[in-house]
Amino acid sequence: MIVNITLPNNTSYDITINRLNEIYYDTKVVIVTNPTVSSFHLEYLKEKITAKEISVVTVPDGEQYKNMQTIDMILDHCFENRLDRKSLLVAFGGGVIGDMTGFAASIYQRGISFVQVPTTLLSQVDASVGGKTGINNKYGKNLIGAFHQPKEVLIDPFFLTTLPKREFGAGVAEIIKMAVTFNKDFFKWLEENDLTKEENIKIAIQKSVETKANVVIQDEKENGIRAALNYGHTFGHVIENETQYKTYLHGEAVGIGMVMANELAVKLGHISQEEALRVKNLLEKYNIPTSYKIEDVEEFYEHFFLDKKSLDNKIKFILPKKIGNCLITDEINKDDVIEVLKVFN
Ligand code: NAD
Ligand code: MG
Repeated sequence: MIVNITLPNNTSYDITINRLNEIYYDTKVVIVTNPTVSSFHLEYLKEKITAKEISVVTVPDGEQYKNMQTIDMILDHCFENRLDRKSLLVAFGGGVIGDMTGFAASIYQRGISFVQVPTTLLSQVDASVGGKTGINNKYGKNLIGAFHQPKEVLIDPFFLTTLPKREFGAGVAEIIKMAVTFNKDFFKWLEENDLTKEENIKIAIQKSVETKANVVIQDEKENGIRAALNYGHTFGHVIENETQYKTYLHGEAVGIGMVMANELAVKLGHISQEEALRVKNLLEKYNIPTSYKIEDVEEFYEHFFLDKKSLDNKIKFILPKKIGNCLITDEINKDDVIEVLKVFN
């Protein structure tokens, strides 16, 4: 299966969802990966790639290493191996590797090409598509980066066979996010099909990628509709912050965040109680957490403003409008939000 993205500036690339084919690159290639992914799958990837020269840079595994120091390490490797402007980086890992490799590619000699070979479900359905690249610093997550679209995205669902169950669930949460905000038929399909079956996960990846591609085509730089992909994230980010990123995987926090956003949407009449329950049930089917104890609602509310990207002290909420549509708004009354937070108190 191939999904194409063509952006208004004529950048165009394919997202292939299939077992990897033989790949030929007429350039030098650097594979960027981490020890976890490389121990499971690097030999397989190397067997598939033929290039002028292949080298590998292995960076430490973990979100805490998604920083400038690791970027330096990747760039040093590129200089030491005399990569030129035609050379290619291959991101081989989850979203952390993808975001860093893309960012390194965007600045090496003012920008070289890179290919995404995502290996987590979350990166296959979300992070590898759309060209957002970047790193974290002491001021927050993803605050340094660039829009840099990959040359291609190669999604091989076989990599998921070694993925821990919780990581799988975190990816499913982002799949459910796309369905609730954009595609009611896909949501219904998700309710009726088991994603742990190989043939089904392939279809779900394809649907998610198509959905995201369609959004990115309309709004690459997130001036409008792309913000809808943050459904569940406004609440989720606060939960991640309050728990110091230790208790929940990102997708899990987003799962809880969707349940909270739905509660607000029910209160404002955008979805029914029954629809909200359907979303919750679907999350729970994959053991994604759906509850969180808010200790102090006022404090939780204040934490919305910790988001360094928030504009004019307004909070942007993404609320489902029935299942399959959504509303992006920064005009929600504090009182309404507080009342919803109290439900989780
Ligand atoms: P991750 O990259 O940290 O991977 C999760 C864990 O799974 C890691 O320990 C990793 O080594 C391991 N892993 C990867 N593939 C594996 C495999 N096949 N088998 C076994 N273990 C494997 O986390 P993630 O959830 O993939 O990505 C999260 C990151 O993605 C965050 O930094 C987030 O900011 C970013 N992100 C970016 C975008 C975007 O549009 N650029 C979108 C969503 C998320
Ligand atoms: Mg996310």
